[in-house]
Amino acid sequence: MALIVQKYGGTSMGSVERIQNVARRVAKWHAAGHQVVVVPSAMSGETNRLLGLAKEISPQPDPRELDMLASTGEQASSSLLAMALMSQGVAARSYTGWQVPVRTDSSFTKARIKSIDDERIRADLDSGRVVIVTGFQGVDEEGNITTLGRGGSDTSAVAVAASLKAHECLIFTDVDGVYTTDPRVVPEARRMTVVSFEEMLELASLGSKVLQIRSVEFAGKYRVPVRVLSSLTDPLVPLEEEMASGTLITFEEDQQMEAAVVSGIAFSRDEAKVTLLAVPDTPGVAYSILGPVAAANIDVDMILQNQSVAGTTDFSFTVNRNDFARTLDLLNSQIGPAVGATEIVSDDKVCKVSIVGIGMRSHVGVASLMFRTLSEEGINIQMISTSEIKTSVIINDKYMELAVRALHKAFGLDQDKSQEEQA
Ligand code: ADP
Ligand code: ASP
Ligand code: MG
Repeated sequence: MALIVQKYGGTSMGSVERIQNVARRVAKWHAAGHQVVVVPSAMSGETNRLLGLAKEISPQPDPRELDMLASTGEQASSSLLAMALMSQGVAARSYTGWQVPVRTDSSFTKARIKSIDDERIRADLDSGRVVIVTGFQGVDEEGNITTLGRGGSDTSAVAVAASLKAHECLIFTDVDGVYTTDPRVVPEARRMTVVSFEEMLELASLGSKVLQIRSVEFAGKYRVPVRVLSSLTDPLVPLEEEMASGTLITFEEDQQMEAAVVSGIAFSRDEAKVTLLAVPDTPGVAYSILGPVAAANIDVDMILQNQSVAGTTDFSFTVNRNDFARTLDLLNSQIGPAVGATEIVSDDKVCKVSIVGIGMRSHVGVASLMFRTLSEEGINIQMISTSEIKTSVIINDKYMELAVRALHKAFGLDQDKSQEEQA
């Protein structure tokens, strides 16, 4: 008997029929003698619908009230799943984040989990029930409902698995694993049977939305075995087959030895770039620019400062597109005049494309192949940043898909269709 946490995403919970299929799959695990905790997302489209209603009332709704609202999607899907299980003869009980409780900090709309009380969950599991814990939500010290950021049910699931020391955390979604890039953009993308934790961390942080970045961080911190797999298969597929499917995030060093130089391509459209022209090239200028940005709780990603000409330099950085308007306001009203910038130029039609691979540590020329590939497509690189296992570029977002496809091919990641057909 093992304790398994299973997370089902929005598409997997998207209709009454799909919820009944989730219940069938969960019932199968339960009947085989396993203890199962299920973490569902809201039904697909529901979180967007709720946030859309809020936006109709106010362009910048109060964050606490947004969390009150957005958390309801998961409460609905969780109770529906409990009912579906009961109607299939399986004892089940659902809990909201505050009932468990899943304690978080008070950063509404992007709260971080601090601790999970597993007493109630364990008692129910021991009495033979399937326990359902709403994804995406928690409660802060003052008793306010919080949510964990878009895609946050992944993090709820891995955090619950960590606190229960679960045997494995299964992330059921609408793809059958983690691919070399988003298969919706590159149909030739290949599923990886294993992906190293470090690569998954980079892929998630650079935009692959198959797992929320914080869920991968949790998995690493608490060594939770996480598997990404499809919820759209026959729910009664044998357990052994299910446990061998999808993509396992591995912490094994030896997997890394066999790793391809580049194992995946990530991309993100959530980018915006700003540049202050002709700021003085003197000590303290970067701090004068980025200090107030940080104080406004705006995350800065890439930063570029050019060689100075006649004592002045151009200073560029990127922020999330959601923070673009606030950043520009701050630059125009406060920072620009304070540092004496002659002009502020901005562009929110940029995107970030990244290549990721542990093999980059030991191979030279990887970044140059990336740059050559982009140049052959006539794509101009606006900014570059590198780390040991990734290289990212900022480019015009109208070239994003072209860049991803060209890089996927150039790094030999396309699956060989002819071989597949022969097999
Ligand atoms: P869920 O609702 O189950 O959480 P998401 O939409 O959040 O599902 O994540 C699954 C989606 O992630 C897939 O449908 C796919 O389009 C996208 N995706 C992006 N990058 C990848 C990747 N490298 N591998 C697999 N899927 C990816
Ligand atoms: N329902 C939330 C969202 O749409 C959380 C999740 O699905 O993981 O972002
Ligand atoms: Mg998701």
